[in-house]
Amino acid sequence: MAYLDHAATTPMRPEALETYIDCARHLGNASSLHRAGREARRRVEEARERLGAVLGAKPSEIVFTGSGTEANNLAIKGLHWARRESGRNRILSTSIEHHAVSDVVEWLRDHEQADVTTVGVDERAYIDVDSAVADIDNAPDEVTVVSTMSANNEVGTIQNLGPVIAAAGAHGIPVHADAVQAIGHVPMSFSDSGLTALSLSGHKLGGPTGCGVLLLKRATDITPLLHGGGQERDIRSSTLDVAGICALTKAADLAVTEQEAEERRLSALRDQLIERIQQIAPDAILNGDPVNRLPGNVHFSFPGCEGDALLMLLDAAGVECATGSACSAGVAQPSHVLLAMGRSEDTARSSLRFSLGWSTTQDDIDALAAALPDAVKRARSAGLS
Ligand code: PLP
Repeated sequence: MAYLDHAATTPMRPEALETYIDCARHLGNASSLHRAGREARRRVEEARERLGAVLGAKPSEIVFTGSGTEANNLAIKGLHWARRESGRNRILSTSIEHHAVSDVVEWLRDHEQADVTTVGVDERAYIDVDSAVADIDNAPDEVTVVSTMSANNEVGTIQNLGPVIAAAGAHGIPVHADAVQAIGHVPMSFSDSGLTALSLSGHKLGGPTGCGVLLLKRATDITPLLHGGGQERDIRSSTLDVAGICALTKAADLAVTEQEAEERRLSALRDQLIERIQQIAPDAILNGDPVNRLPGNVHFSFPGCEGDALLMLLDAAGVECATGSACSAGVAQPSHVLLAMGRSEDTARSSLRFSLGWSTTQDDIDALAAALPDAVKRARSAGLS
């Protein structure tokens, strides 16, 4: 099989898997006082130190969570709740967020009457930074939190959040970035970013699924989601997943250390794939920025084809990829990201994402290029339903 769905989940790096297995063999709750507990604690704190060094964060700014989704929930709800007061009840976000952000914001709007400002994007999925800055400057006393993504999970556009972070910072408004797709793939230092909070996820960078991190600036007021033993400085409770934490750290360490070389390698494969797809299907539309996109992201609309049909045809031919769309009651929904970019429903439904990662080789690209002509021909003759 050619696996081209690394943005959904990327295989664990062998070193991270070894670390996981090694740690999982050891008994011990990191909160216990006996020898086994102290040993587990040592592993966690060494991982925290290392992860901080790798991400440009202080160890005390790391909150281990159970996923990227949990990190996003903690950042948005936690910062909104901590800062909500009379007159301040507005969350600023964008129209292209992953559901792990947009559904949190919508939940706060629908269940807790939060006011929500949704910033739009242009046809390449760049956030309208001027309008975000104006929204902040026009009502700085209303905003509890700004939450936006560093790089888009569907079309791969890498954002320039600098002006938004600066505008919010001038008014003491915390900015949270969902960097789940960016960490390990583009350069990133938490301390240089000016962000208050940043989410990442283990299984997007070669670590285990079910492990995430929220980086949170020190002395930030945040209301916890999970109450219990207060293991993560009372910001998050739950017995620490020592093996997951150590394996995530190992994977992040490798991904960040190798980031530059891997960016060069993957961008070359990505650009070759883009060119080959354009030769195979000259009317295919490349979505996102042609250059400033995640090194492993290729996203096309194939006019006249149903994305799901293409996906299944490619799957049958040994190539695994993704559509951006969610399935609701068995009916393919067009991607909200593509609609926000101004694409029509038909174009949005005819889209596929091919995402490359650390284990991708030339063979995977060749396999897709070999399978695509027939898949497009057959999907096109079936047409859009
Ligand atoms: N944010 C983005 C941009 C993502 O792509 C994903 C996963 O697809 C998540 C958040 C959720 O992360 P997790 O799967 O760890 O909950």
